[in-house]
Amino acid sequence: MRIVLLGAPGSGKGTQSKLLVEKYKIPQFSTGDLLRAAVSAGTELGRKAKAAMDAGQLVADDVVLGMIQERLATPDAKGGFILDGFPRNIPQAQSLDAMLARVGQPLQLALLVDVDIEVLMKRLTGRRTCGTCGAIYNVYYTPPKVPGKCDKCGGMLQHRSDDNENTVRNRLKVYEEQTAPLVSYYKAQGKLRTARGVGSISDIFKSISDIIEAQMRPLAAVGVGTGSGAKPATARAVAARPVAKEAAGKAAPKKAVKKKAAPKKAAKKKAAPKKAVKKAAPKKAAKKKAAPKKAVKKAAPKKAAKKKK
Ligand code: AMP
Repeated sequence: MRIVLLGAPGSGKGTQSKLLVEKYKIPQFSTGDLLRAAVSAGTELGRKAKAAMDAGQLVADDVVLGMIQERLATPDAKGGFILDGFPRNIPQAQSLDAMLARVGQPLQLALLVDVDIEVLMKRLTGRRTCGTCGAIYNVYYTPPKVPGKCDKCGGMLQHRSDDNENTVRNRLKVYEEQTAPLVSYYKAQGKLRTARGVGSISDIFKSISDIIEAQMRPLAAVGVGTGSGAKPATARAVAARPVAKEAAGKAAPKKAVKKKAAPKKAAKKKAAPKKAVKKAAPKKAAKKKAAPKKAVKKAAPKKAAKKKK
């Protein structure tokens, strides 16, 4: 299966995608993780990305596209993948679609993890990560027993440099402006599903897994594999079926309005040529019919007159 996990920073998509990796045994590619690794390693790419990351801005598209292209070309990705934090804007989504179309393996699902903004602020500014084992805590919701120390391994807890309040505000603003439009993008493709990202991690994981399984079952039934050989048209047709049931997030109603407007335009367009045809047709027909009749009527009496003489 080929999945994009959508969601604002702090929506928990990173945590959920790691659980999905364990359950479905497919790799997860997180552009945020890859960029952080490049920054830690002090590579050229990392140096380029750091300033944008610290400011809460997006890193240049060509940088992240290069990283993703490399990952999708690995043998690991042949049996499917989970993309976390990518795409982040419409041009990235279009490039991803083009990349996947070239190998005949279109995206099957865009799963939005939906969380309110106030919750996101607390989750992000309160987040602490163990520098040794990677365990994640939150000083508001899930604090460690000893402040600053990991319960599991005793490692030091770290505060991500882009989790301070100013950067978090920026990241959420960037999300609203650049990433949220992807909700409409994938909904238009019939690939969007939404899970509420609040409650316990296991409850959220259950609803995400349910969505994935509901989505993948019909695909498997018609022979659209989770690995190679998926046919785009079939996958899209099947994937489109459960859309009406979707309990969408905030962006969904906006799109519903747009969709309703579309058929009206179509109706007007269809009506126009009919009127033109109806009006034009009788006039031409009348002229054509009138011409021969006159000719016949006038000619007939003359011939008759000649015969009488
Ligand atoms: P994340 O861990 O996904 O929240 O990403 C952390 C930071 O990495 C973001 O605030 C961006 O600066 C950068 N980043 C991650 N993914 C992307 C992407 N797809 N496009 C551009 N920048 C990204």
